[in-house]
Amino acid sequence: MIAHWWQALRERREARILEQRAIPEALWQLTLARYPFLTRRPAQDLRRLREMTTLFLARKEFSGGHGLQVTDEMAVAIAAQACLPVLELGLDWYDGFVGIVVHPDLVSVRREHMDEAGVVHEYDESLAGEAMEGGPVMLSWRDVADSGDSAEYGYNVVIHEFAHVIDMRDGIADGVPPLPNRAARERWLAVMQAHYETLCDVVDRGDEPLLDPYASESLEEFFAVASETFFVAPFDLRAEHPALYAALADFYRQNPAGAPDAR
Ligand SMILES: [Zn+2]
Repeated sequence: MIAHWWQALRERREARILEQRAIPEALWQLTLARYPFLTRRPAQDLRRLREMTTLFLARKEFSGGHGLQVTDEMAVAIAAQACLPVLELGLDWYDGFVGIVVHPDLVSVRREHMDEAGVVHEYDESLAGEAMEGGPVMLSWRDVADSGDSAEYGYNVVIHEFAHVIDMRDGIADGVPPLPNRAARERWLAVMQAHYETLCDVVDRGDEPLLDPYASESLEEFFAVASETFFVAPFDLRAEHPALYAALADFYRQNPAGAPDAR
């Protein structure tokens, strides 16, 4: 009973948000034109993506860093790309955080690293984005704005950071998102680990892999990078790594490359 009551209340609230805060048609069309990888979907998926984007905007809080004013265009661009991975999983996967901080460009952060001799080294790292448990998600607007063009290389900062959020839903960033059972977890690890090790070998040899070599950092970066390519360059990923593509399609419950002969 309680669950039904709560569900009905939530549905009413969401219906009201969708009615009152619908994304204006011109702004939505502009977003689709700028990020064409969003449009490779059946019409009903696109309708749902648009509704989800509205609900995402209602639930999350955007703020600008370094004096950046976050415009409606920016917020919709980020929200639409962030919703793509959870189109079938549901927005609840993002319930663990509220804030999204958008900076104009890369953000330089000071890092510390202790070497084997116990000496601490400090260095600066430039980040296009960062996700941490409990939030906020940080993004460089310049990289988000370039996402339409960089899709050709399988690069997408929004999907990368939100894949980390999905991975961390079980509290651990380890490249293994919550999966239904132990068997599914073992299957997942077998596929990810094998592709990760192959990628590391390719990078060590100095060859150029399909996935961003940054994926060789760790299994969690591998998952985030593979997710980017899965959503923005799905044909390339399916052609080169069919088993990896299939595992991601199974997890995200999406098939962005469509039927095998579609292109
Ligand atoms: Zn990452």
